[in-house]
Amino acid sequence: MHPTEFTLAGAVAALEEGVISSEELTRAHVEAVEALNPRLNAFITVTSEQAMAAAKASDAKRQRGDAGPLEGIPIAIKDLFCTEGVQTTAASKILGGFIPPYESTVTSRLKRDGAVFLGKANLDEFAMGSSNLTSAYGGVANPWSRRNDPDVRLVPGGSSGGSAAAVAARMALGATGTDTGGSIRQPAAFCGIAGIKPTYGRCSRFGIVAFASSLDQAGPFGRTVEDCAILLRSMAGHDPKDSTSADRPVPDFAKACGRSVKGLRIGVPKEYRLDGTPPEIEKLWRQGLDWLREAGAEIVDISLPHTKYALPTYYIVAPAEASSNLARYDGVRFGLRVAEQNSDLRDLYERTRAAGFGQEVRRRIMIGTYVLSAGYYDAYYLKAQKVRALIARDFREAWGKVDAILTPATPSAAFAEGENTDDPIKMYLNDVFTVTANLAGLPGLSVPAGLDPQGLPLGLQVIGRPFDEETVFAVGAAIERAADFRAVPSMRAGA
Ligand code: GLN
Repeated sequence: MHPTEFTLAGAVAALEEGVISSEELTRAHVEAVEALNPRLNAFITVTSEQAMAAAKASDAKRQRGDAGPLEGIPIAIKDLFCTEGVQTTAASKILGGFIPPYESTVTSRLKRDGAVFLGKANLDEFAMGSSNLTSAYGGVANPWSRRNDPDVRLVPGGSSGGSAAAVAARMALGATGTDTGGSIRQPAAFCGIAGIKPTYGRCSRFGIVAFASSLDQAGPFGRTVEDCAILLRSMAGHDPKDSTSADRPVPDFAKACGRSVKGLRIGVPKEYRLDGTPPEIEKLWRQGLDWLREAGAEIVDISLPHTKYALPTYYIVAPAEASSNLARYDGVRFGLRVAEQNSDLRDLYERTRAAGFGQEVRRRIMIGTYVLSAGYYDAYYLKAQKVRALIARDFREAWGKVDAILTPATPSAAFAEGENTDDPIKMYLNDVFTVTANLAGLPGLSVPAGLDPQGLPLGLQVIGRPFDEETVFAVGAAIERAADFRAVPSMRAGA
């Protein structure tokens, strides 16, 4: 077997048994990145030399008998996580050349546990998007292609599109992502892999470039649900440097993947049946419910009545917070500075921000400053906050009746570059099934469950109670077992 074909769990076992060394495993992935990245553009920065040195150090650590749980495992890091000494761009020109003097908490925990970083994965600029096409470093190609139209370049989803494409194409055994409105779950679904957005507060946001602070959460990608569970255990946990991180014990999530779903009550929210959803997605959803019923779960119809307000609410709250977070890119403190000889401060700001931010980011800053401005604050931002509370209450009421909720992950399979990309509203509709979990702070897992008529992957989403990722993993793993998803993308290492 080619070393890039291991699951992350399988690679951990193979390293433990001495079947393979981290140097061999990492070299295979470094070669995969070198071979595929020119076509996929999944990485903005490739750190092969550092990866090989880290792999060597990992092998030595293992020899000494103090291997961490991820010792020697090569993964990709979304380029939104600050990595000490390694350029961190948020896929924006405005941060080009920014080399953080510190490490994000999530990546430092992954390092502590032995993970080897292959490089910084591409994303939508400042994580704003659903296609990866807003990256200032170019779009990422989805490694999957349409059966009848193999030459059409498809998007990997976004914003964590580089991370998802890297894992799907076997360039990395796992990856980190962040999810503000769907940026882990939607690219996972588009690329045929698993990805979880944990409960808000499960992972520290310290050192992650901020988009919308009340919605942002870090989470992992893996080719299996168990791989996500293993990574999340290392990423999670309280951090005194982030006051919104939760002081709660981190369970053994991988163990929860083996739990039975017998007796669990699974909710089906009627408001998620949307007009215009393709029949194959409806069918897959019903199939998912049948699988869970066969595994002993009880299916319960529920109502989340404020769902229809979720997208407009998200597209007020997220830009509002973004406009405030992005005020710090002023040409003084980080990255890009554009000034004329006699520029005053205001001119410096204007020139730097006009040159540094892409179109979508500028659009969000304008929406955000508008909804926060005097006279409109009450009508938009405050109203959105109130609706957000109602959306969260819908879920709280649902948890009296069910233990988890099953929905489609996305309203379509991966689309082609140019298909949704000219119309921002159409693009925003991609998040229709995912934003509610962010607004309510709940964990949501996307698991590959089937293929569309063009042979493209489709995902189902499991939403759970706050801090009950264990049930989410148990339900996701049950779907994974039943779906027995074995399809592979046409573009992958060794193919
Ligand atoms: N697609 C959504 C947006 O554009 C979500 C992005 C995200 O989760 N970071 O805002």
